[in-house]
Amino acid sequence: MSRTIYLDNAATTQVYPEVLDAMLPYFTEYYGNPSAIYSFAGESKKAVDKARAAVADLINARTDDIYFTGGGSESDNWALKATAEAYADKGKHIITSTIEHHAILHTCAYLEKKGYEVTYVNVDENGKVKLDELEAAIRPDTILISVMSANNEIGTIQPIAEIGKIAHEHGILFHTDAVQAFGHIPIDVEAMNIDMLSASGHKINGPKGIGVMYIRKGVKILSFIHGGAQERKRRAGTHNVPGIVGIGKAAELAKNTMAERSKKETTLRNHLIERVLKEIPYTRLNGDRTDRLPNNTNFCFRFIEGESLLILLDQAGICGSSGSACTSGSLDPSHVLLAIGLPHEIAHGSLRLTLSEKNTLEEIDYTVDELKKIIERLRGMSPLYEDFIKKQV
Ligand SMILES: *Cc1c(COP(=O)(O)O)cnc(C)c1O
Repeated sequence: MSRTIYLDNAATTQVYPEVLDAMLPYFTEYYGNPSAIYSFAGESKKAVDKARAAVADLINARTDDIYFTGGGSESDNWALKATAEAYADKGKHIITSTIEHHAILHTCAYLEKKGYEVTYVNVDENGKVKLDELEAAIRPDTILISVMSANNEIGTIQPIAEIGKIAHEHGILFHTDAVQAFGHIPIDVEAMNIDMLSASGHKINGPKGIGVMYIRKGVKILSFIHGGAQERKRRAGTHNVPGIVGIGKAAELAKNTMAERSKKETTLRNHLIERVLKEIPYTRLNGDRTDRLPNNTNFCFRFIEGESLLILLDQAGICGSSGSACTSGSLDPSHVLLAIGLPHEIAHGSLRLTLSEKNTLEEIDYTVDELKKIIERLRGMSPLYEDFIKKQV
């Protein structure tokens, strides 16, 4: 059997045909450099402007406050490192959470080596940042709070508006890594008091290697990539015009289809969750049951090793992930699952399946059927499971 069921949309997504069609002319026909003076370059410049407006529209931002970058990781690095540098005279303390993406956590570790202090606020058992802890962590020298909008592993949506309110009440800048939320759930930088926001093209059916940074007017961070005067001197480098057109088109589609798409995904997601929890014993759902990305599921199966599960799922044509893509290949359990309080041996048996609106109910049912067989087979080979069952009777 050679079917592929792609259930790893939190890792990356398919470029939608409409997005590709919008991009293609900017490789071959309108290949001019948008910074050039001649009118041939005008088409490229117009396309970049249009994409910027579409991205701004999706998050209720001013068009001039949108900057194009090389991806979500670059935006995260820029937000943290440039804020640290620009506001060092005010203080050297940053607050973030324990469940951020490594683009944030590893940047924080780098800043700690450079003499900054970082407080990592804990989350509750559903993966929600503890707001009382967050507020208590604020000090006179705190310059930035950075908390992700939604978690890439367990799908928990954070109380972003509340965090933005707390930050602004204390006169502190607020950045959010919205890579998983952008285009998937509503975001409003005004209503949510967001000063900086990171997003990425390839998590919303756009191309890879293109990202967005929203920087509220008045935030004084400087360029991270030095060179030419592109992006109002804040991000040098010849514009990736096809990529920018792609993320713009993806943002436009995401806005127009969000309501319907998230309804479809939520229906599939709930069906998957209900069947797995009902039909596979000794299983738990990780992440918040309701404040959850419409397409995210994340389970732990006791007495199962995540890597073996992925290999057997792959043999059945099913693409899933265990932990996050960045840590797979290593035996460390996910820092997110540890942060929600799971012991190592349980965190090891995790499986993340992230859907798209294009998945069908039949695909989900096939996946659960295969999963059941695989788990039974793996548990059948586990001495720990054998001991456990013996003790039950
Ligand atoms: C994927 C992801 C990133 C990194 O984005 P890239 O465009 O792949 O660099 C950052 N943060 C989160 C939450 C992500 O899911």
